[in-house]
Amino acid sequence: PAFSSLSPMEIIQSTVNLLRNQIMLAGIKLETRIPDQPAPVNGNLRNLQQIFMNLLLNAIQAMPNGGKITVSAVDDLPDFVRIDVQDEGEGIEPETLEHIFEPFFTTKEVGRGTGLGLAVAYSIVKRHGGRIEVKSEPGRGTVFSVFLPKSSPGQ
Ligand code: ADP
Ligand code: MG
Repeated sequence: PAFSSLSPMEIIQSTVNLLRNQIMLAGIKLETRIPDQPAPVNGNLRNLQQIFMNLLLNAIQAMPNGGKITVSAVDDLPDFVRIDVQDEGEGIEPETLEHIFEPFFTTKEVGRGTGLGLAVAYSIVKRHGGRIEVKSEPGRGTVFSVFLPKSSPGQ
């Protein structure tokens, strides 16, 4: 797929807009924190939307009783912009955490999860030359951090 220079704002807003109704119906608050002028990143918009769609769907499913999802862009590294998706959901036990990026790994009931969301997100991030990290506190929530390479000037 074609890569271009994309603003983190555009990636986040366009993905969030696709899920706005679903988030509202689930009784979840959504906060986006994007600094004034974060550096543009190099990537394919559709593919990057897929990453954040998968992360947001997981966050929604982790909060059956509502709560808040925070999506933030952070530009404090020389070569990467970090986009965090933070939830206040059930969290992930350490034994589970080791497996979440494996294809077909799921803790969800049959029919609710394919176990592919994070495996797909991982491979897209890899193809972009970035990386994905996760921190979770069982019972408190989870944050996924996606590091995307900045586009070099002229790109
Ligand atoms: P699926 O959502 O179909 O189960 P994923 O690859 O998207 O597959 O996620 C794999 C597993 O990782 C989930 O089944 C769940 O156990 C865990 N997980 C992912 N995101 C979250 C989250 N935000 N909160 C709690 N658990 C999560
Ligand atoms: Mg999923």
